[in-house]
Amino acid sequence: MRSSLQETAAEPLRDAHGRSITDLRVSVTDRCNFRCQYCMPAEGMEWLERSAILSFEEIERLVGVMSGLGVDSLRLTGGEPLARREFPRLASMLAKVPGIDDLSVTTNGWFLERDARALVDAGVNRVNVSIDSLARDRFFQITRRDALPKVLRGLEAIAAFPQVRPVKVNAIAMRDYTEQEVLRFCDFARSTDYQVRFIEFMPLDGDRNWEPDSVLTGAEIRALIEARFALEAVAREPHATARVYRFADGAGEIGFINPVSEPFCADCNRIRLTADGRLRTCLFSIHETDLRGPMRAGASDGELAEVIRDAVWRKELKHRVNEPGFRAPPRTMSAIGG
Ligand code: SAM
Ligand code: SF4
Repeated sequence: MRSSLQETAAEPLRDAHGRSITDLRVSVTDRCNFRCQYCMPAEGMEWLERSAILSFEEIERLVGVMSGLGVDSLRLTGGEPLARREFPRLASMLAKVPGIDDLSVTTNGWFLERDARALVDAGVNRVNVSIDSLARDRFFQITRRDALPKVLRGLEAIAAFPQVRPVKVNAIAMRDYTEQEVLRFCDFARSTDYQVRFIEFMPLDGDRNWEPDSVLTGAEIRALIEARFALEAVAREPHATARVYRFADGAGEIGFINPVSEPFCADCNRIRLTADGRLRTCLFSIHETDLRGPMRAGASDGELAEVIRDAVWRKELKHRVNEPGFRAPPRTMSAIGG
């Protein structure tokens, strides 16, 4: 049961396990121009109907309600967020929502050359670009798109703006794939100011091919790196999902996001809003809370805030990926918003 104190409008979002929620990820579209093997099937993905997708004004309203409840950090993702028409205009609307002081985007980089300046002008202050291989043929193999040169140009285009920092590169960590990428990414991290982070493959792929052994763990990757370079741990920031290490000779940093082998649920401050207006309190949630329905039926901001508060209160203690009986959520990564 929640206490009467938690009913008051000014009380920040909190769950029953004592965690404060301040970070929101909004999926602005479930569509994508890539078909990464660990995310989407090669074909046959079913898209949400246009009318099911939240309008810019609806997203702006829900972000406003949540920022009124203490959310101050917003990441826009998808699907591919830049594939949504007029995405920079949406980013600019959201940057102006009172209380949002960190606006970031996760992208596959394809449209970044086109949109980098517009995103900066909109107020985006951090960008993560997903790049799983620095070899063109292997990038093609994993994303099913021959897009590496264009993505690298996009990465450079956004990094040319000093106000967008840090620029991070996310690489999937999959057994029998990522091993060959590790040293190339080390050289990349050592010769640029991008922070490369390896993200353990999670059971959210469209092909449902995930199995425990298909994860190349952060510890395994670190061992591969340490055979060549000395690493020193960097102090962990609160709620940071990545364990960051610096190269001991001072040439850059490398990070590990280990949701499978080292879950960070106890420190989780995140919630997610899907493109069709469902609130998800965990990446692996089986249950979602519909916000679009009440909003379109005329709910007031106060009523929406109560629905959100109740859902957050019931936030899952932890994901159960490593436990017997684990059930993957019906939605896969691109439909959740990673
Ligand atoms: N399309 C954008 C992109 O690729 O950056 C944003 C959406 S994508 C779903 C967000 C992140 O989730 C990407 O870094 C991607 O590599 C990661 N991702 C997708 N499927 C994953 C999975 N099954 N396990 C771990 N990470 C995954
Ligand atoms: Fe698209 Fe991103 Fe999923 Fe790749 S990871 S298919 S780029 S949504």
